[in-house]
Amino acid sequence: MVDRPIVVVGAGPAGLASAAELQRAGLAAVVLERDAIGSSWKGRYDRLRLNSSRWTSRLPGSRHARRAGVFPSRDDMVCSLEGYAKQKRLDVRLGATVERIDRDDGGWALATSAGAIAAHHVIVATGFERRPVIPEWPGRDSFEGRLLHAGDYRNAEPFRGAAVLVVGPGCSGMEIARMTSSTEARQASGLRFERLRTSCCARRQAMRSRRSCCGSRPGWPTPR
Ligand SMILES: Cc1cc2nc3c(=O)[nH]c(=O)nc-3n(C[C@H](O)[C@H](O)[C@H](O)COP(=O)(O)OP(=O)(O)OC[C@H]3O[C@@H](n4cnc5c(N)ncnc54)[C@H](O)[C@@H]3O)c2cc1C
Repeated sequence: MVDRPIVVVGAGPAGLASAAELQRAGLAAVVLERDAIGSSWKGRYDRLRLNSSRWTSRLPGSRHARRAGVFPSRDDMVCSLEGYAKQKRLDVRLGATVERIDRDDGGWALATSAGAIAAHHVIVATGFERRPVIPEWPGRDSFEGRLLHAGDYRNAEPFRGAAVLVVGPGCSGMEIARMTSSTEARQASGLRFERLRTSCCARRQAMRSRRSCCGSRPGWPTPR
């Protein structure tokens, strides 16, 4: 038992910070990550900027580079997470998906895609918003345009010439609306946009789903 490490599942900000703090306290920690360091951030849209400032978005014992500005970009965030793992010399094992965790002799037995591993304690840091949810709107299946979740949005380019409706006035929704309606985007890609009208109902729905979706179909809704 004494030889078993503490296993942290997930190499996002929470997992990396936990491992670094354990290490700082003199405890051995192994981070198991199924994909890459900061993979949730790597998969987000191209022009994402944090909505929290660089001072409030730093991990313990680190800081974002001044050149990242007040609100670091997606790539700044990924770079900072990778740098953190390196700087803190964390034992991160990539390509290890944790498939099952069972109690074992006072500790834990983990079945992973890279083999079995025994742990003294396990910290699960697999993220709370990695699974996109699109509400079960009536007529959703028969909608002829493209309907996608904000998690699948990368940039405005595929929406060239289409009318776009962004549902959900949260951070992602507002940012996507801004990107797809900027003068720059209009000039670059010839996009046509509608002004958004968010009803109380839409706001409530957005709060419930906590994420955003954008749907597009040429000519819909009727351009003004
Ligand atoms: C568009 C968007 C913008 C955001 N902007 C901000 C912001 O500005 N400021 C802010 O503070 N927060 C922001 N957030 C929230 C942000 O995602 C979280 O603050 C942060 O990434 C959560 O970190 P985490 O480590 O808990 O999870 P994640 O970053 O999701 O990391 C979880 C990790 O666990 C791995 N994993 C999952 N399952 C397994 C498994 N079975 N085995 C092994 N590994 C596994 C994943 O691959 C991933 O690397 C934003 C979120 C979104 C969607």
